[in-house]
Amino acid sequence: MEKRLLLTPPHCVSLARAGVTLSAGFSEAVCPREEEEEEEECRRPVTFTLGNEILGLGPETEFQTPDAEVYMHFLRSHCCYDAIPTSCKLVVFDISLEIKKAFLALVANGVRAAPLWDSKTQSFVGMLTITDFINILHRYYRSPLVQIYEVEEHKIETWREVYLQGSLKPLVYISPSHSLFDAVYSLIKHKIHRLPVIEPVSGNVLHILTHKRILKFLHIFDSTIPKPRFLKKTVQELCIGTFRDLAVVPETAPVYTALEIFVDRRVSALPVINDAGQVVGLYSRFDVIHLAAQKTYNNLDISVKEALRQRSVCLEGVLTCYPHEPMEDIIDRIAKEQVHRLVLVDENRYPRGIVSLSDILQALVLTPAGIDALNS
Ligand code: AMP
Repeated sequence: MEKRLLLTPPHCVSLARAGVTLSAGFSEAVCPREEEEEEEECRRPVTFTLGNEILGLGPETEFQTPDAEVYMHFLRSHCCYDAIPTSCKLVVFDISLEIKKAFLALVANGVRAAPLWDSKTQSFVGMLTITDFINILHRYYRSPLVQIYEVEEHKIETWREVYLQGSLKPLVYISPSHSLFDAVYSLIKHKIHRLPVIEPVSGNVLHILTHKRILKFLHIFDSTIPKPRFLKKTVQELCIGTFRDLAVVPETAPVYTALEIFVDRRVSALPVINDAGQVVGLYSRFDVIHLAAQKTYNNLDISVKEALRQRSVCLEGVLTCYPHEPMEDIIDRIAKEQVHRLVLVDENRYPRGIVSLSDILQALVLTPAGIDALNS
């Protein structure tokens, strides 16, 4: 049957009670190598910046030639429903659920985020992601000797009231009939990493779209889309990525420092550097969920190095790329390794930049349309 005709797939159940796994079809990527979480608008830069190293000038015109528009046209002509898997796992939390149970349920189900259901208003009101966990730990952590009462006792709704203090932002979501181009725009514009796809008639959440899913969709159709010539150019020539004011964390810094940088800089991962300043690892927002999995969130004084050592699942080295590598190789590596970014290093492994899926989708899809959602 053509999937497009079936607007409410069987894996979608409308209403969820507290902490219920809505369906358990096959989970497509139970354990991707690393993941990233939701962010909001950028704030002032703090600590551990590397200065102003720029790799070249970004030639905008590269992305505005006719052959550069293929991805833009392709995603404009496909809707979000096309990128939804036939079966996937979706976990929904009622906002009356305790925070601790919610995070343990995310870990237990191997998912990164869950839509939040308000049974009073009978509507989805937000998302719970690892960013919330980071914000909670950052706000309430005192010392290894003091239990974080708020994690133990608060409900999701209490946290939302405290944290959002009346400025409740509406849930950012998309309809399955909207184009994937709109989805890319929404992900980048709102600086989020999870975009729920909500069917307007039933109000069901069908799926949670990510940059990774959209890249995968493009990759599946790769052989049918003519490759723009500019992809043969190097990352240095194209300047796709961030090459100045990198947020990094020393491996000897406490985990709490990494959380502080996540909160202040709103970045999704930090290259980890040794005493000589060389890249030796990557600490991502997703790694923070291991603190919940291992129930070690009461001690954020341990070093980043130790936290990475304790990471029991999905162990990986840091994935890097070099300034002279062609962009198409970098995109292939990101897709193959199922990661959200590569750390750009020089031949001595000093960090020179970050090439993330936000940068790539901005350059491949939005820039040809004359839209700069990343920096606006
Ligand atoms: P992301 O949220 O990872 O997709 O990245 C959003 C933007 O922040 C992109 O332009 C990235 O290049 C940039 N970025 C990601 N991580 C870092 C970091 N550690 N330091 C500075 N910029 C970053």
